[in-house]
Amino acid sequence: LTTTDLIEEHRICVCVRKRPLNKKELTVKDLDVITIPSKDVVMVHEPKQKVDLTRYLENQTFRFDYAFDDSTTNEMVYRFTARPLVETIFDRGMATCFAYGQTGSGKTHSFSFKQTHSCACFTQTARDVFLMLKKPNYKKLDLQVYATFFEIYSGKVFDLLNRKAKLRVLEDGKQQVQVVGLQECEVRCTEDVLKLIEIGNSCRTSGQTSANAHSSRSHAVFQIILRRKGKMHGKFSLIDLAGNERGADTSSADRQTRLEGAEINKSLLALKECIRALGRNKPHTPFRASKLTQVLRDSFIGENSRTCMIATISPGMASCENTLNTLRYSIRWLED
Ligand code: ADP
Ligand code: MG
Repeated sequence: LTTTDLIEEHRICVCVRKRPLNKKELTVKDLDVITIPSKDVVMVHEPKQKVDLTRYLENQTFRFDYAFDDSTTNEMVYRFTARPLVETIFDRGMATCFAYGQTGSGKTHSFSFKQTHSCACFTQTARDVFLMLKKPNYKKLDLQVYATFFEIYSGKVFDLLNRKAKLRVLEDGKQQVQVVGLQECEVRCTEDVLKLIEIGNSCRTSGQTSANAHSSRSHAVFQIILRRKGKMHGKFSLIDLAGNERGADTSSADRQTRLEGAEINKSLLALKECIRALGRNKPHTPFRASKLTQVLRDSFIGENSRTCMIATISPGMASCENTLNTLRYSIRWLED
């Protein structure tokens, strides 16, 4: 079975990616508690203690469509996740790829919002879109390519390609959702896309205390839109989600942090419900439950919607609880 087959079957593909232990974890001698025994299985060796205080490891096994170990390159991850979705948007469909996980687990690394790796998900998606555009079948459609880049922070939408303008989200009578005034920039080559990503990134973090602190609290959405005679033909969304550990901030002493945590919790729960509804072909998707799902509404409905989730996990024992949360959340996407 190829990824394309899997997605055809489920419309959803869920993968896990483990990152290597980093310098900090190695310095404090954190242990690697994750093994990937085969290409679709993740094992967590959770440290536990009995009543008599003897320690033991409780092994838990999770099965996904794909499990990528810490030696997997971005190139490989791309090939099995976003790559099979590129056709979808040429086929008048909606493709969506999420990176979900704890802060520091490798979401941004996998997409490369920051690093301009030539092999990162963004670059490759853009490159493959422009390659596909040259194929005779698609060339004759005379498609134009546009990009948008925005973030959702505390339930509000900010345009990263327009000096962080705060945008309103409106629903028309026909349940179409519109982000009013969102900049759609025409792009003609991969370099154009990279430039926009750079602009968006610098805009995203300007005036913030630290880039990572901010990105852990907001969802970043990058979209490639194909238009034909002005009408939408297909759309590819890459979404770098807020750190899922932030959902636990609901008991923080700081009011702002608490509110942000609650908002992140709400949006990640809503996302899970929407994806499950999509997987089961349910007619009613609870997209209104959060801003994130509301703006992604057109990606969840329709005959030709395909979704892929990359759940990123840290290998360390210190991250075990967050890792288990990530795995439990993601596996729900595959359950009937
Ligand atoms: P997140 O976006 O989930 O908060 P990042 O993608 O910023 O996490 O990753 C945190 C750090 O770990 C970065 O320095 C990144 O380069 C590194 N990293 C993440 N995933 C990998 C990986 N698979 N291989 C090597 N380094 C990684
Ligand atoms: Mg990040």
